[in-house]
Amino acid sequence: MSPVAKIKETLLEHIVLTALGVIGLLLLVIWRSVDPAVWVKILNAVPKQVLWAWLGLASIVAVLEGAYIFHLQRQATPKLLLHLGVLWDKKHNLYCPKDETPLFQSGRSGNVVGRGVEVFKCPKCDNQYTFKNDDGSLIYYKDAKEKFSWR
Ligand SMILES: [Zn+2]
Repeated sequence: MSPVAKIKETLLEHIVLTALGVIGLLLLVIWRSVDPAVWVKILNAVPKQVLWAWLGLASIVAVLEGAYIFHLQRQATPKLLLHLGVLWDKKHNLYCPKDETPLFQSGRSGNVVGRGVEVFKCPKCDNQYTFKNDDGSLIYYKDAKEKFSWR
């Protein structure tokens, strides 16, 4: 993860925690400022089944929200695996192994037009990457892709 993304994530965490803290504090202020007799009256007036139903609904909403936040977080940070010197995601997109920036094809190797293997470049650190076989010979992206298996 890049430093900027880490700062954003940390900032978001602090904002969420602060918002939750303020909500808790405001609820406490409301709870303390209302005469306890009023709460007893409300509790006696509302049937117990209704209270349990509200509690159940609130729990379901909390679980669904948690699952949705988890889902969004997983989407925002794709899982990357190192394969033949670069990072890959599930959809065979390539990322720089140093800073996890998406790579783009900057050209081809060799002098024969359209014949060389693809050369990929990181726009952030300018490093270039090609795919090599176990014996050190250059291979095409499609062959590197075939060798890649999602574990
Ligand atoms: Zn890079």
